[in-house]
Amino acid sequence: MVLKTSYLANHVRNLKPSGIRKFFDATAGMTDVISLGVGEPDFVTPWNVREAAILSLEDGHTSYTANAGLLELREAIAKYVDDYYCVAYDPEHEITVTVGASEAIDIALRAILDPGDEVLVVEPCFVSYAPLVTLAGGTPVIVAAEKENDFKVQARQLEDAVTERTKAIMICSPNNPTGSMLSKQEMEQVARVAKKHDLLILSDEIYAELVYDDLYTSFAAIDGMRERTILVSGFSKDMAMTGWRLGFVCAPAEITQGMLKIHQYAIMCASTMAQYAALEGLRNGRSDMAEMRKSYRLRRNFVVESLNEMGLACYKPEGAFYTFPNIELTGMDSESFATRLLHEERVVVVPGNAFGDSGEGYVRCSYATSMGQLREAMKRIHHFVDNL
Ligand code: PLP
Repeated sequence: MVLKTSYLANHVRNLKPSGIRKFFDATAGMTDVISLGVGEPDFVTPWNVREAAILSLEDGHTSYTANAGLLELREAIAKYVDDYYCVAYDPEHEITVTVGASEAIDIALRAILDPGDEVLVVEPCFVSYAPLVTLAGGTPVIVAAEKENDFKVQARQLEDAVTERTKAIMICSPNNPTGSMLSKQEMEQVARVAKKHDLLILSDEIYAELVYDDLYTSFAAIDGMRERTILVSGFSKDMAMTGWRLGFVCAPAEITQGMLKIHQYAIMCASTMAQYAALEGLRNGRSDMAEMRKSYRLRRNFVVESLNEMGLACYKPEGAFYTFPNIELTGMDSESFATRLLHEERVVVVPGNAFGDSGEGYVRCSYATSMGQLREAMKRIHHFVDNL
């Protein structure tokens, strides 16, 4: 029997692998490496949250939950979103507990896109956005946020990119990789474009709790936007729960029912043990969250100051745990910079172009690592830049 040359579907074969992975793979076998590459907290999940998972196992909660997640957890999510973001969602019909924000983004796109529908993807952005649009049969239309505006997308840029096939705008604020956050006024301008062209906003709010200077506003809380917003969030970042794989998505009932169909066939339900842990986090986790936020804030200030002092211009990001310094003065592109920094100083950063072409000329440095490690990393980067 003759085998086909490849069994892969074209749209899968043509997907580029993540530009982040490459740099982690390159560190294999190297010692004394400091990684500013990872997008996850260096904190361990708070003890009471871990204990809640252990107790759930001891109590024998080892079976599936409802497809949409434990009702108790959905009720706690509804309360949290209402208390902190002033948006009311019905836990029975408008909230789904997912396997991380990653699954939430995936099922949201699959629920709303017909083949060929366009989604405006604001770049630089998290690596999964454009590939997930493609996998859902849609067409990602890249809108490059400009460095002159500290990578905050302008409403006019979105307006210019809208066509009759545009279905949604995908936006993440505070942003990975830039740390930029839209002000309420800037969000209102984006919302105006969405309303004018009858678009949905797929709002990735996973960094909503990691905001250091201003108050946070959810897209769903902007006047008239609740009905056209799909609010994605999760526990990975603010509760230091990346490995538990737990997120959630809030959306109007019709969209939620659509997402739930995909979720029930593909996933069934998120991990039961992780759901009990998250429930404890929502009920009693705010002081831990506040402690972690305080620590990230100090680290942000230190890293931004250090990078600027060594000549790598870096605006002060309002949220998340990333800085995005400009490395153009070194004369290198972002990939060469990251490669040489790794081999010459053993510090991992991620080239800006891993997050879209508009990230070229920048690198992402995560400060989700200890102050001691950050001090040493800044010393090494300074040495590298001085020796160029
Ligand atoms: N959205 C953004 C902007 C992220 O940075 C990440 C992870 O880095 C995710 C979503 C995925 O989060 P989760 O671990 O909840 O799947």
